[in-house]
Amino acid sequence: MGRHISSSTIDAVSSSINIVSLVSEYVHIDKRGANYWGCCPFHNEKTPSFSVNPDKNMFYCFGCNKGGGVIQFYMDIENVPFADAVEQLARKNAIEIIYDDSFTKEEDEEYARAKQLKNDMLDLYKRTAALFRYFLNETEQGKPVLDYLARRGVSPEIAESFGLGFAPDDRRWLKKFLLQKNYSNDFLAQSGLFSKNYPDIAFFSNRLMFPICNRNGEVVAFGGRILEGDGPKYLNSGDLPQYKKTDTLYAFHLAKNQINKRKTVILCEGYMDAIAYHQAGLNYAVATCGTSLTEEHVHMLKPLADTFLLSFDGDEAGQKATFRAVLMCRKAGATVKIVNIAGFNSGDKPKPKDPADVLLNFGAETLTSIVDNSIIDSDYLLSRLAKKYPIDTPDGKTKASLEFFPYIDVLQSDIQKESCLEQLCNTFGLSLKAVRSDFNRRDAAQKRTVPDGHASESLAPDNPDIKKNAELRAMLAVVSNMEYFTKMRSKLSPEDFEDPAAKELFYALEECFREDAVSLDAILAKCGNEKLRNMVSETVSSGEFAINSQETTPKIIEDSIAFVHRNSLKRKRDRLMNKIRQCSGRTLEEQQELRNMQYEKMAIDNELNVKDVTE
Ligand SMILES: [Zn+2]
Repeated sequence: MGRHISSSTIDAVSSSINIVSLVSEYVHIDKRGANYWGCCPFHNEKTPSFSVNPDKNMFYCFGCNKGGGVIQFYMDIENVPFADAVEQLARKNAIEIIYDDSFTKEEDEEYARAKQLKNDMLDLYKRTAALFRYFLNETEQGKPVLDYLARRGVSPEIAESFGLGFAPDDRRWLKKFLLQKNYSNDFLAQSGLFSKNYPDIAFFSNRLMFPICNRNGEVVAFGGRILEGDGPKYLNSGDLPQYKKTDTLYAFHLAKNQINKRKTVILCEGYMDAIAYHQAGLNYAVATCGTSLTEEHVHMLKPLADTFLLSFDGDEAGQKATFRAVLMCRKAGATVKIVNIAGFNSGDKPKPKDPADVLLNFGAETLTSIVDNSIIDSDYLLSRLAKKYPIDTPDGKTKASLEFFPYIDVLQSDIQKESCLEQLCNTFGLSLKAVRSDFNRRDAAQKRTVPDGHASESLAPDNPDIKKNAELRAMLAVVSNMEYFTKMRSKLSPEDFEDPAAKELFYALEECFREDAVSLDAILAKCGNEKLRNMVSETVSSGEFAINSQETTPKIIEDSIAFVHRNSLKRKRDRLMNKIRQCSGRTLEEQQELRNMQYEKMAIDNELNVKDVTE
């Protein structure tokens, strides 16, 4: 049965853990004035509205209104319930957990069981990793593996910090050992450490073992590399109660602080690649674990890093993976560069295949300089296309363009898009006009056929069809009468808009006002979406929202602002109601939160002037 955590433990966790250092593990924040600021990890944004207040030990986002103390932050970022957040934070910070003697209700049992299973698995994996380390370092069997590591240039210190080990050749040994330690057959059968069909036989044997850790450095899974004999070169754990490969990155726990500090990450595909980078002092490298890069991986890294350096294999599969990863990282708004090991001039020596090769044969300085000279993705993609297709035939030009267009699609600014189209033209000797019309035609055709996915709006590379809804009409009214934008700005913020096109117009106007360059052209230049540009031009020239009266603030503007504000409040109220419904109020902290939320809802209700009909 699960147990109640005492309020003294909750107090200790929320007051003794520093919010700045906790948040810094997940988000890059900079000190500005008394507070720290960064881009919010809970909603998509380009300008920081996420603040951390060290005095009050709390965070607050002015964009999405999320806020709270360390426990709330941990719950939201790790997506765990209150009790788990307290326990995990306490464990991480060596705070003793005291339980009240009261037990939770029966419906909690299932949940408590799942949690217990996960904790038991973590213990088992920790113990198994220690066994593998022992076999590597303390036994005869481990000697050839230590030799191999030395030959590959892996220092004992690095092997130690990565917890490398060796799974012994005897495939029955591990089971016997663990049964002696009072683990049950049932439990071990679920552990992923044994063959599914032959539960006495170890899954990993006679392999160099790479423990895979979660972001707290707890071992959650293994990868194993074969050194001799038959079998796949690498074996990896499948998904487990404590491990999902699509949201785990190898070496993340070792690299996260450096990634945050440099706002840069090196992304590679193999355990040995990541280790080589760390060995060379480039300790901001992480690797995917036997899977290709996923959006979850990118979302894990994006709050810490602006720049993604991709270091994948130079072969055909690696190039495909690189292209996929470029699109994914660009879509998330990152700057992307390619670590070009294949392009390294090795002189008389054979060309290195991977970072470990470079490190071993040319040294850490060379590997560092290759990383420092990473190529911006557009240059890399175009030079690859120029090699792949004949530059001087119409067919080659067309194919290359078509292959390059998806990259232009995911770029986030019009200026970037334009300059990459120009680059394409220069590389293949094409006219900008022809390429642009090809691109737009294909763009339009694609927008009609591709159904609108569930991707969040600011991650979507292109905007769906624009509907002239009430929000957009409100913005168009202001664009038609720009002198009233300051009025609107004093009442509304971009987050008050739900419609992406209306939001884009709001941003465009705001940028123009900030740059003190307010004109229709300037606004149009800032709209990325062609259909929106057309609609703005059309609306303004048609005089649909022209104002003739002498009122100080014309009714149409007043109404527009009021409408958007009201809708925004309603959405906020809905979100709040949801949270209130989900809040169990089981702990003191939750009760306090519940009161705060109810108070906030009352304030909104007052403003909306609606009666509370739900309770
Ligand atoms: Zn936010």
